[in-house]
Amino acid sequence: MRAKVNQDINISDYNGVWVISEQNLGKLHNVTLELIGEGRKLADKINKEVSVVVLGENIENIVKQLEEYPVDNIICIDKPELKHYNTDIYANCIDEIIKEMKPEIVLFGATSIGRDLAPRVSAKVGTGLTADCTSLEIDDIDGKLLQTRPAFGGNLMATIICPKNRPQMSTVRPGVMQKAQKIENKIAKIIIPNIDKNNLISKVMFKELLINDKPRVNLQDAKIIVSGGRGLKTPEGFKLIEELAEALGGVVGASRAAVDSGWIDHSHQVGQTGTTVRPELYIACGISGAIQHLAGMSESKTIVAINSDPNAPIFKVCDYGIVGDLYKIIPELIEQAKNN
Ligand code: FAD
Repeated sequence: MRAKVNQDINISDYNGVWVISEQNLGKLHNVTLELIGEGRKLADKINKEVSVVVLGENIENIVKQLEEYPVDNIICIDKPELKHYNTDIYANCIDEIIKEMKPEIVLFGATSIGRDLAPRVSAKVGTGLTADCTSLEIDDIDGKLLQTRPAFGGNLMATIICPKNRPQMSTVRPGVMQKAQKIENKIAKIIIPNIDKNNLISKVMFKELLINDKPRVNLQDAKIIVSGGRGLKTPEGFKLIEELAEALGGVVGASRAAVDSGWIDHSHQVGQTGTTVRPELYIACGISGAIQHLAGMSESKTIVAINSDPNAPIFKVCDYGIVGDLYKIIPELIEQAKNN
């Protein structure tokens, strides 16, 4: 789709921060709570309201969950046509309400759905979109949204502004922002906009929902992560990583080199093109500490690195570094963990 930028707008007509919520089987996606936390921070800085947009069918339960968080408005579009995610219909509805209600900032999660939906909405509305942001700030001088994201393969961080168009739109990487805290008394006002019935029509038909019931590692909520990299040298090396993770009550992560070698599934990958994590303890075993890996784990509370190369960059970011052969060190750690 070719985006036509809408030059003919008055910036002062646009107001407030919107979060486009995501839910799965009746439960709010973590990224929605992260966006509410970030949206609240941005809105407070410019003295504006935070609104969450919920699309779906029978969304009362989601609305109830959202009311526990510090949002000023919950904009509900509850239609049978929205039961399952559909790019056309979701994009049409969001486009319609943006044009009508004119938010100043709109945030989506950089999830599979957010990455599909946000570009279409931005093209329809005729504004810009900064994808995969890892930091958002309000400029102290002119109040514009400063949207920061990795560029050139993660080798530099680019800060992007949307100078002339509104809304300012971003997708935000899951796991990077702090989740919103629950509040005691609900403050949210429910808004139910009218939707043009032509916007509920799509050429795409939903056929079947296939759920991948293979257990997926939950890196984002893990308190302890033990990650393995190319230094393991063989896929069997992950047995040792698994053993240490199990002894510590943690889960297994991996570098992209290990994933690309086919040693472990991509769902375990930590980093720029994997999952962003912030556990209490992150143990990097045989991982050099490339910038794209650090982008996904440097916010961990305590970082331990095991590497045979004393000059490995991971030692610059770790709290505890062990120089040596992981095949000698990890069995000792497992022994210690089991005895404690
Ligand atoms: P290496 O860099 O090869 O490091 C292996 C380490 O093991 C070395 O430091 C070595 O000293 C050590 N070692 C070897 N033998 C032993 C031993 N016996 N005991 C102890 N230590 C030993 N990478 C990610 O991880 N996540 C991402 O999401 C990601 N996204 C990317 C996105 C882009 C656009 C690009 C360009 C790259 C991305 N990468 C990502 C790849 C990244 O640049 C690195 O190539 C990758 O992180 C390297 O993985 P590694 O540290 O396991 O391997």
